[in-house]
Amino acid sequence: MHQSQIDQLRDAPIETPMMIIGGQPVLAISGKTLPVISPIDGQEIAQIPDAGTGDVDLAVAAARRSFEGAIWAGLAPAARKSVLLKWADLIEVNALELAVLGVRDNGTEISMAYKAEPFSAIGTIRYYAEAIDKVYGEVAPTGPDTLGMILREPVGVVAAIVPWNFPMMIAAWKIAPALASGNSVVVKPSEMASLTVMRMVALALEAGLPDGVLNVVTGTGAVAGQALARSMDVDALAFTGSGGVGRQLMEYAAQSNLKRVFLELGGKSPHIVFDDCADLDKAATAVVNGIFRNAGQVCIAGSRLIVQRSIHDVFVKKITKLAAKMRVGDPLNMTTQVGALNSELHMQRVLDVITGAHSIETGGERIHADTGGFYIAPTIISGVTEDDLLFKEEIFGPILTVTAFDDEADAIRLANNTELGLAAGVWTDNLSRAHRMVAAVRAGVVHVNTFGGADNTVPLGGYKQSGNGQDKSLLAIDKFTNRKTVWIKL
Ligand code: NAD
Repeated sequence: MHQSQIDQLRDAPIETPMMIIGGQPVLAISGKTLPVISPIDGQEIAQIPDAGTGDVDLAVAAARRSFEGAIWAGLAPAARKSVLLKWADLIEVNALELAVLGVRDNGTEISMAYKAEPFSAIGTIRYYAEAIDKVYGEVAPTGPDTLGMILREPVGVVAAIVPWNFPMMIAAWKIAPALASGNSVVVKPSEMASLTVMRMVALALEAGLPDGVLNVVTGTGAVAGQALARSMDVDALAFTGSGGVGRQLMEYAAQSNLKRVFLELGGKSPHIVFDDCADLDKAATAVVNGIFRNAGQVCIAGSRLIVQRSIHDVFVKKITKLAAKMRVGDPLNMTTQVGALNSELHMQRVLDVITGAHSIETGGERIHADTGGFYIAPTIISGVTEDDLLFKEEIFGPILTVTAFDDEADAIRLANNTELGLAAGVWTDNLSRAHRMVAAVRAGVVHVNTFGGADNTVPLGGYKQSGNGQDKSLLAIDKFTNRKTVWIKL
């Protein structure tokens, strides 16, 4: 990746984005569209189809037809594997173009997006493609006159509804294991970042995925998303997004066909630093990157620093210095470390949260407003107590709160004092303490002496109200397969 290549692509005209239903590129039946506003400068860069219920029904019907026709599920595992591997290769060939398109759409800095978007999706697709002929059924330990087998079968039609912060990465977390298991899929990206997912689906067809096996519909959550979630013909719904929408999806499932609903929701992850951490500089860098990259719009972002009182002042000084130096701005500049907030509305919500906060150590305001883009300086707010709303609610922006603790029990209590439980970070050089903390913190991912970076081999899923589904790892295949018992009398 070179800056000159990025610059060539930054203003490239965007061909009319089309949904793909039954293998055909289509616009919404109504002809309605939604504007795509780039967070880089607030300018409109494209229009995406605004699907209605009728469009969603067509996509679900196409998926159902392809599933019942067994044009994908019925292929030999090796054939399915080679299509998915080819798909990953095509994404790789187009990686830079996809990364730049995605950044224009959602504002993530390219230094992060390049790896976290196309290349993460490529890795995920390859991982599940390779799993296709390595995941077995089971034979039960029955008596000699019986054979008990447990077969895995695809659930049927899977809907994936994904957010705007990492559209390709998160879509791949759902689509790849679902396709690898033989399902047909309808994906709905966020109306705030749909362009790369639409391109990704087009590349899947180019790779030889049969028509109807992977469909993409775009539009609002309230209409297109709701129609998918209420569909009587969707067997499983895999969702990543906010807790509020997650709750609604469970209701829609209950009111329709009791489809399986898998939720990956928000976080309020504690980043806990003990005074026995040997390398406070390393911890400070991880704390700052753990909240400010992608302007804090990361589900596992370590948004609550919980630091031992004895090192509080020293540590806050370190992170403040680092945060104040971060390069914020044009996300298509390779040296930028903090890109844009996804939309003006989201930026305004984050700024509203800052208003009224006391003890702002650094940041606290919109910057680069002259560009028309949506940027907020990395913000550190100290003296936050567990009663403050700032301590409890996910903000999803570049804001780090700081709370001091006295001893290990205090740190555990503070870390767990939230309804959410997606991730956590612990910095200590005491091995026993590290293990105690891992056991005590109620979160789906606990990092020790590092933050972020977990790969496809391990699951990502929430405790408490951070969700009930698990993306990544072979465990994700469980979501998209039924287990069928076969009981044979010999
Ligand atoms: P969101 O919940 O607003 O939207 C997510 C998706 O749901 C979008 O595609 C949207 O169109 C759709 N949607 C909205 N209303 C709907 C409805 N009534 N019916 C059906 N679909 C509907 O979330 P967002 O703002 O796009 O993303 C940010 C949230 O996602 C944050 O809370 C973040 O923590 C969470 N997130 C979680 C993870 C994880 O792995 N747990 C990863 C990334 C983001």
